[in-house]
Amino acid sequence: MKYFIGNWKMFGVPKSIDILNKINSFYSKDKNIKKYKVIIAPPYTLIQTFARYFKNKKISISAQNCYQKDHFSSNTASVSPYMIKSVGAKYCIVGHSDNRIEGDTHEILKKKVQFALKNNLKVIFCIGENKIDKKNKKTFIVLKNQITKVLDKKLNMNNVIVAYEPIWSIGTGKIPSENELVKTTIYIKKILIKIFQKSPSVLYGGSVDENNVKLFKQIKEIDGFLIGGASKSSKKFIDIIKNYYR
Ligand code: PEP
Repeated sequence: MKYFIGNWKMFGVPKSIDILNKINSFYSKDKNIKKYKVIIAPPYTLIQTFARYFKNKKISISAQNCYQKDHFSSNTASVSPYMIKSVGAKYCIVGHSDNRIEGDTHEILKKKVQFALKNNLKVIFCIGENKIDKKNKKTFIVLKNQITKVLDKKLNMNNVIVAYEPIWSIGTGKIPSENELVKTTIYIKKILIKIFQKSPSVLYGGSVDENNVKLFKQIKEIDGFLIGGASKSSKKFIDIIKNYYR
């Protein structure tokens, strides 16, 4: 099973449901429907309406983040995994570099993952090195640290998806070379197998669009994509799927 996951970031108002409707009508009629899953992560403000509307349809809804507490608390403007689950989301992104930069530490992320899983949300756990790590050839050390400090064997790996998103690639139009990406994905899976015996799905994210998606086709180790910018356009998102299976 491959994944095409759209991360809308700070984008969308109620009428943006039109974008999802177009994606959903393509997806539900696609001859390749059984080969992949479409998940969209709108901002918190739209989760309830979107999740309700798409409840019995093909697309699943994800949150983009959650607070590191289980239920209710006195943290202003925070949203817990319990609250996210209660409005119908099935997935939750955790550890996006945007949030790591804003202060999410390994300890915080560990709690987010644990509480999201406890509330029956599947976790899309993001990892990735920055430009300086890459330049200093620290990519593998950084990735290993990000994985082993947060994921452990007690977690239900069937509910975890890992998204490799090199920070230097997010929103920049730059993507890793095929060789680099194969090596890194294999390395990530090796670390995950050490923890879980088996590897969860590992996605790639960073400037994926309808043109470059063809380059990823040959890389069988990649189990799908986390798509930012291009997921805000139904045409681009659909073209990514079409071009991947072409
Ligand atoms: C992201 O922010 O998760 C992402 C992959 O963004 P983009 O596709 O725009 O690089």
